Amino acid sequence: MRVVLTDEPSTQSWQNAMKRSIRNSQELCEALSLNAEVLSACVDGEAQFPVFVPLEFLRRMRQGDPNDPLLLQVLPRAEESVVDSAFDSDPVGDSQVEKAPGLLHKYVGRVLLILSGVCGVHCRYCFRRHYPYSTAPKSVERWLPALEYIQNDPSIHEVILSGGDPLTIVDEHLSELVERLDAIPHLTRLRIHTRLPVVIPQRVDEHLCGWLERTRMSKWVVLHINHSQEIDVHLVDAISRLRRTGATVLNQAVLLRGINDTVEHLESLCERLVDCGVLPYYLHQLDRVAGATHFEVDRESGLAMVAELANRLPGYAVPKYVAEIAGQASKTSIQK
Ligand SMILES: *Cc1c(COP(=O)(O)O)cnc(C)c1O
Ligand code: SF4
Repeated sequence: MRVVLTDEPSTQSWQNAMKRSIRNSQELCEALSLNAEVLSACVDGEAQFPVFVPLEFLRRMRQGDPNDPLLLQVLPRAEESVVDSAFDSDPVGDSQVEKAPGLLHKYVGRVLLILSGVCGVHCRYCFRRHYPYSTAPKSVERWLPALEYIQNDPSIHEVILSGGDPLTIVDEHLSELVERLDAIPHLTRLRIHTRLPVVIPQRVDEHLCGWLERTRMSKWVVLHINHSQEIDVHLVDAISRLRRTGATVLNQAVLLRGINDTVEHLESLCERLVDCGVLPYYLHQLDRVAGATHFEVDRESGLAMVAELANRLPGYAVPKYVAEIAGQASKTSIQK
């Protein structure tokens, strides 16, 4: 199949955008006029974790540039086959803290609900390459054990909808789920961890904004943007729509070698974010997941870059540099 980029993809519904996404490296390389050498390096990585790239995201990549920072996040590479015993398949220990199907209770006061194993893009550096998502529930009935667990623990004040990507679930189901959460009196906050509005901005449609506006809980949307080039006019509009629902919008990024690992890149990402009303929340040290060794940046350089960001930016624009360590009571702040 040839990918046609002539029409304006953002006028499609988000479901159509998912259907029209690129699903293999050949289409990806053809669409960006990349040569056979780039394509042939994709084979092994692609066999481990398939390619998935919406056209809306593809349009923000440069033609003919194999080092484009958006492309590098989604293009399979020969380095994915590198074996390193420090990089395994459950680096953050999530399989230990599942209390009901799809429900992770790891930190005090908040639980994470894995609503869907599906994502709006496949990021090569992600632990999702290996997590056994087939067990995550999909219909509202299948979330009942998780809802019951939350209901029975009054120390829980916040529910984080996560995944995969929770916004791959249709709004009818999300709206029903949030109504049930609203009915649990000890819940005061709803958080959504999503990358879908970044890659397919039209996901932020009237249905989504409708249930987000209706909840009585305070709402926090945490996006995942790694590079300023991801922020185009469509995403800026989607962020405005989210903020108009009363949600506070935050961002988490992952520090990625060759993609955003210079002070200049991080600075321009943080500036762009705050200019569209998004607070940089976390800058994550890469989880040591098998197949992602080539994305790792050492902590010393990370620390030096974040220290320099603090010299260049207002305090609210500097993210916390954190790592996720299995068995710890929170994300761990990286310090000297
Ligand atoms: C990251 C994470 C959270 C949220 O942590 P915050 O520091 O509040 O952002 C909650 N639960 C799990 C299992 C997590 O991995
Ligand atoms: S969970 Fe997030 S980072 Fe991982 S593949 Fe999905 S969208 Fe990308």
